[in-house]
Amino acid sequence: MRDTELQINLSNLSHNLNILKKNTTSEIQGVLKAFSYGLEINEVVDVIDEHVSCYSVMSIDEAILVRNKSSKPILLLQGVYDLDEYKEVLKYDLDFVIHSDWQLKNLEEGLKYNRLWLKLNTGLNRLGFNADKFESTIKVLEEKGFKNLVLMSHFACADDKGHPLNNKQLQLFEKVTKKFSYKKSLANSGAVFNYPKSHYDIVRPGISVYGGGFYEHGIKPVTNFRSKIISIRNVKKGDSVGYEASWTADKDSLVAVISLGYADGYPLIYKDVPVFIDDKQFHTIGRTSMDMVCVNLGDDSSVKVGDWVEMWNFKTPLNTLAKSINTISYQLLTNISRRVPKNYLE
Ligand SMILES: *Cc1c(COP(=O)(O)O)cnc(C)c1O
Repeated sequence: MRDTELQINLSNLSHNLNILKKNTTSEIQGVLKAFSYGLEINEVVDVIDEHVSCYSVMSIDEAILVRNKSSKPILLLQGVYDLDEYKEVLKYDLDFVIHSDWQLKNLEEGLKYNRLWLKLNTGLNRLGFNADKFESTIKVLEEKGFKNLVLMSHFACADDKGHPLNNKQLQLFEKVTKKFSYKKSLANSGAVFNYPKSHYDIVRPGISVYGGGFYEHGIKPVTNFRSKIISIRNVKKGDSVGYEASWTADKDSLVAVISLGYADGYPLIYKDVPVFIDDKQFHTIGRTSMDMVCVNLGDDSSVKVGDWVEMWNFKTPLNTLAKSINTISYQLLTNISRRVPKNYLE
C-alpha cells in the first residue's frame, strides 16, 4: 500500500476548542463547510460536539452527515440554492441563511419554526442585504410570522488586526442591529482573537479549530501531511531533476522521491520549500509532479528509503508553507484529495 497520509490529531482539535472557549464567553458554532475544511465531518463532530452550541455547513449533503451525529442546530451558510430545497430544510430541521430577496419567496408557514439567519452586508460586499434594506426585510419576515431570527454579518479582514475596514464593519453591524433583541453573530476566527467586541451571541471560528493559524494564541496544528521515500538516487552535478528540468544540481547530490504529488492536493510548486525528515529540515526540488515530489538530501546518507517526509507537521504547521507560496492554510487543507487516507490520532 502506498504510504501517503494525512494524520489528524484529535487531541489538538479538542485543545483548540478549549483555547477558543478561553477567548470568548459566547456560544461557539462549529464551522464544518468543505467537509470540515477537509478533515471529515464524522470525526470532527465526535470531538467538538461537547464544545459547540450549533454547526454550519455549505450544502444539504454536509448537513445530513451532521444531522446523523448531532441534534444541535445546523446552519446552511448560503441558505438554499433553489427554492425546492426548503423541503430538505424542513425534513432535516435546518437553520438557513437569507442573503438575497429571491430566497424570501416560498417561505411557507412551516418554516417559521426553523431558525433563520438574516445576513447584513457590512462591507465584504459579497452576500447579504445592505443596511438600508435590512430593517424593512426584518419587518417583512416578522409580518409573515418569522420570529426565530439571528442577525449576522461576516468580516473581510479580521485576521489583520487594525485594518480600518474591521471597525467600519463592526460599527455598521452595531448600528443596524442595535434596536433588535434577536441573537447576533459576526466573528470568525480572526475576530475571536482580535475583536472581542464583535463576539455578540454566537462566534463562528473555522480555521483556528483546524489549526491553520493563531499559534501565538495557543492554537495547535492539527494535521501532518506525509509520505514515505520510495527511491533515492545520486544526481550528478549539472543534471536536472523533474518535469521542465526545473532544478539543476550544483553539485553531486542525493535526491529522494516520495509518492505524493499535486493529485494528492499538494500545491504545484516550482520553488524549493522546506520539508521534514525525522525533525531535520530539507528542501523540495523541481516542479511538483502529479504523483511525486523530489527532495534534496545533499550528501546526507543517513536518510533511507522508507523514511517519512513531512510536507507540514505538528511542529512546523501548514501556514509556514502557505505564506511562502502565496496561498493560505485554508486552501492547503481543503485541497487534500480524497485518495489520501486520513488517519486520526487520539
Ligand atoms: C467560513 C466561515 C467562517 C469561519 O471563518 P474562519 O476564518 O475559518 O474562522 C465564519 N463565518 C462564515 C459565514 C464563513 O463562511
